[in-house]
Amino acid sequence: MLRATMTVLAKTSAELSSESVRSLYNQLIVRVKEISHLEAASGLLQWDQEVMMPPKAADSRADQVSALAGLSHGLKSAPALGSILEELEKRQAIQDLSADLNPFEIANIRLSRKAIKDATSLPSELVKTIAALNSKSCNAWAEARKESNFAKFAPFLEEQIRTLREKVSYQMKAGICEEARKINEKARVSLGLKDDEKCYKGYYQALIDEYEPGFKEDRLQLLFNDLKKNIVPLIAKIKAKNFQHDNSFLQGDFDVAKQTAYSHRIAKEIGFDTDAGRLDVSTHPFTGGPHPTDVRMTTRYTANYMMEGLTSTIHETGHSLYEQGRNPEYYDTPVSQALSLGVHESQSLLWERMVGLSRQFWTYALPLLKEQFQEPSHQNLQAASAEQMYKAFNRVDPGFIRVEADEVTYPLHIILRYEIEKSLVEGDITVAEIPNLWNAKMKEYLGLDVTEDRLGCLQDTHWAFGLIGYFPTYTLGSIYAVQIFGAAKEAIPNLDEHLTKGEFHVLKKWLNENIHKQGSLRESGDDLIHHLTGKSLDSSLYVQYLTAKYTEIYDL
Ligand SMILES: [Zn+2]
Repeated sequence: MLRATMTVLAKTSAELSSESVRSLYNQLIVRVKEISHLEAASGLLQWDQEVMMPPKAADSRADQVSALAGLSHGLKSAPALGSILEELEKRQAIQDLSADLNPFEIANIRLSRKAIKDATSLPSELVKTIAALNSKSCNAWAEARKESNFAKFAPFLEEQIRTLREKVSYQMKAGICEEARKINEKARVSLGLKDDEKCYKGYYQALIDEYEPGFKEDRLQLLFNDLKKNIVPLIAKIKAKNFQHDNSFLQGDFDVAKQTAYSHRIAKEIGFDTDAGRLDVSTHPFTGGPHPTDVRMTTRYTANYMMEGLTSTIHETGHSLYEQGRNPEYYDTPVSQALSLGVHESQSLLWERMVGLSRQFWTYALPLLKEQFQEPSHQNLQAASAEQMYKAFNRVDPGFIRVEADEVTYPLHIILRYEIEKSLVEGDITVAEIPNLWNAKMKEYLGLDVTEDRLGCLQDTHWAFGLIGYFPTYTLGSIYAVQIFGAAKEAIPNLDEHLTKGEFHVLKKWLNENIHKQGSLRESGDDLIHHLTGKSLDSSLYVQYLTAKYTEIYDL
């Protein structure tokens, strides 16, 4: 079928120039959908690898995924697809396409062009080098972390930085991320550099653009500085109270089968469609899978840490609702995809924090939890009130590990990584300086003394995979979540009452219409928020949210 379609569609540019915009668009979509089908198959294989696959299949699975990636790359770099896009681009320069196409369709042209440019901007040698480096570097990181020995990982991280810079150079040449190129040029002029002299200013902007398209680095810096300035003293105030809310009723042995039943129930009540997805278990919870009609999410349960399984499930359900809520009219085309990692994270955090950590949620969910755990060993839980659950789930407790952090201290974990990785990529610090810098920032922001790199700069996998520019999206997600939830509260009468009764569908429906179905129609998360709320992304709203909530919880 693939081959037949390609034969039919391979046309000369002269032929294409006599066709209508609608016909060109339709040809583009047929090709784009084919690529999407291949990537979907790969998504399913990757889910299987994390959840079901027996260990001996690792090598054969790597071959299968790489064969699919090769096919999809081939389709993306097919000259016929390039010609269709070029012709559409020509038309766009001379006529207003909105006479022929709707805004979603016009966005599909922009997004396809970007995806093709991204896929074809790098020489295949470099793509292979990156894949091989990631696998070596990830193994080295795992060993270094086990031994808490940063020096073992350092050469691989240096190689990652070199490779990322090479990648960005190619992308800049291909005209991807103009913003990064402008920053670089400006820096070159102000430093008086010659053409052959190296300068990596702006490179971080290019990396951010991969995960948070259209988001400007100088905005990020302003938002993060504002958060730091306000959150560090808030944490100090909480610490100074020298008081902690009781959570003893959440401790003890919580049967994993019962936790599983409870998590599945909550996911379903929130709105996860089990006819269009699955909830399973994996080492690291994630949401993936092939298609909005087949969303695969995972969680993990620990018998003596009940909070983890439940919050992970609610978090991943938020991601899944975004995926299941994509616009069916544009399935398998780029405009139906999530706008950015930050916006994706806003959907998981909105459900996890704005809903799952609220008094309203616990008023509804605590009786169901008590129903599940009736053994004498859970006497304390049976006696707990919704108010106590609310406070136990919202304890602020600065710690070393990012993934275990509460919502007040979490942004500082991110800001620390952001400051280090940006300086690293742009050449202001060396890899060898990371551990000391990390530990100094940990002391300054969270008041903690890092004694081992395992608990410090070796804790996360991101850098080992060359994922630099990714961390900021977690905190952008928190800010988006607060603003999106604020807009929902304004738009939905009595939202709190609905949540108290477990009527989550009201909020889900609003998110479906205003976020999920919008897909990648807007050019950046900032645009989306502005369109929705009349304001850009605003760190002060996040600070207000945290200050009001925790002033009350800790009686500051
Ligand atoms: Zn997430």
